Amino acid sequence: MNAGPESSRSRPARREAPCREELRELYATLDTELARIGPVCLASGRCCRFGEYGHTLFVSEPEMDHFLAEAPAPARPLDDGETCPWQDARGRCTARDARPLGCRIYHCDPAFQEVAPALSERFIGRLKALVDLHGLSWNYAPFHRHLDRRRLEIDFPGPPGQ
Ligand code: SF4
Repeated sequence: MNAGPESSRSRPARREAPCREELRELYATLDTELARIGPVCLASGRCCRFGEYGHTLFVSEPEMDHFLAEAPAPARPLDDGETCPWQDARGRCTARDARPLGCRIYHCDPAFQEVAPALSERFIGRLKALVDLHGLSWNYAPFHRHLDRRRLEIDFPGPPGQ
């Protein structure tokens, strides 16, 4: 059975995501910087197929709060960490505006790899400073660990074919 957004199963109310406005501003600043650097994205979707490409997406707790408050219902069921449930059948992100910092920075363009570590370190530092400023939990952990822990807050669809 598909337990989509109209599901009547009871679930806890979503936590109010703190410092969301500042987080949006940080994401916007990063997006501007990325636009200036101009890494190539061919929309292959490989960045969201973690297992296939040996990529682990790390997310902080406040980003997870923000993501779950803003993202639509996932496009696919939760798996064991192979893929992102918000990637649709065409390989596109269905939660683009809400996607966390790690999704925004990651690009598979080989030319980008030279600047990616410093850019990542700088923006993770700014994110950590923001989280500390608000006295929030950092809990920087793999995306699927967050999803697994918070699965009752999320309307995952049923397995394919059901
Ligand atoms: S949130 Fe979007 S960009 Fe990030 S891993 Fe999931 S589908 Fe990909």
